[in-house]
Amino acid sequence: MKQKVEILDYRLLKLLIRKYLSARFNIDDSNHFCKDYEPPCLMISNHITNYDPFIIAAYTKYPLHFVASDRQFIHPVKGFFLRRYGALPKTKFRNDYHAIKDIQRIIHDGGAVGLFPEGRRNWDGRTGELVFSTSKLIKLLNIDVIGVTIKGGYLSQPRWALNSRKGKVFLSSRVLIKKDSLQNMSYEDIYKVISRGIMHDEYKFQSNKMIRYKGKNLAEKLELGLFICPVCKDIDSLRSKGNIFKCMSCEATWEYDEFGFLQSRFKYFSDIKEWNQWQIGVLKDYLRKDAVIQAESVRVFSSSRLKPFTREGEGSIKIRGNVFLFDSLQSPLTIHISDIDGINVQSNDMLEFYNGKKLYRAVFLDGYSSAYKWALSLNMIKSNFG
Ligand SMILES: [Zn+2]
Repeated sequence: MKQKVEILDYRLLKLLIRKYLSARFNIDDSNHFCKDYEPPCLMISNHITNYDPFIIAAYTKYPLHFVASDRQFIHPVKGFFLRRYGALPKTKFRNDYHAIKDIQRIIHDGGAVGLFPEGRRNWDGRTGELVFSTSKLIKLLNIDVIGVTIKGGYLSQPRWALNSRKGKVFLSSRVLIKKDSLQNMSYEDIYKVISRGIMHDEYKFQSNKMIRYKGKNLAEKLELGLFICPVCKDIDSLRSKGNIFKCMSCEATWEYDEFGFLQSRFKYFSDIKEWNQWQIGVLKDYLRKDAVIQAESVRVFSSSRLKPFTREGEGSIKIRGNVFLFDSLQSPLTIHISDIDGINVQSNDMLEFYNGKKLYRAVFLDGYSSAYKWALSLNMIKSNFG
């Protein structure tokens, strides 16, 4: 009886979520060919909006257990929906024995598991590098792999943005790997197939489609994603207001239009992906020259074992050479960047990383400092610019 109630509960919830999402994002699932596939299977997808697991699950006929960051479960509303959706908690970017056991159990019982192998939402609409261990997981599970591509998601809810927009979101899916062919595939073979299978370039797609994504204050918070001015090369000088994006150092100005492109008399980058790829190269050169990255007015928190965050103090943070510094009266910190892992941007504006078992979170009080820039910098130094 309890199980019946739960199934009914799940179906009703799914129906309500689908109605909500369809009204909000205008979803087209006509190319979601695997929506009634026979599980067990593993479904992987590119990751763009906060709503991705809900969008895919709502438009798929069988129950999907998504792997989600354990921290998401702490959020009261999100946690409620994730639990009801049968989501599986995993620690971001760290090996997680328990998550793998959970996945194996669901597959063993004939279920379907959903996964975002990029491990994070991308910042410029182009599918990022996948976590390599996904291929190992696929081989271990020995299962059919379905690839889902979400198109139009980035323009509907860019990672940096405050507001979402309404245009159209397309959901497409196909079988990428059949279980039978897995034994003859190396990890590298699997990696290539899945990387290609969920690759999506939003700006390339939009150049052909030219769909309007309507909303208010379209450029607001773009400086969280784009942090180097292409005209004067200044770092942290860009600010947004309404639809306008402007460099405070050289006065260069862009207008974000309803198609997601940047209009300007300054002939530098009309799309965010190109601008982002360019700034990553500039940042790398900058850090290679041992330049110091710094932010004032930062509040640092820490947590261990999923306990609520406690405040470490307020002050400035700095990257100098191979060291991350937090300068505050209460509890100054010096951490070698090689001892940092799980580097991640929480929401779109908070920097998080692990040092041993301790999770640190830096909140930028100015409201415009790019946590993405910090995450990129720490990752570049940690990988020795590889
Ligand atoms: Zn400038």
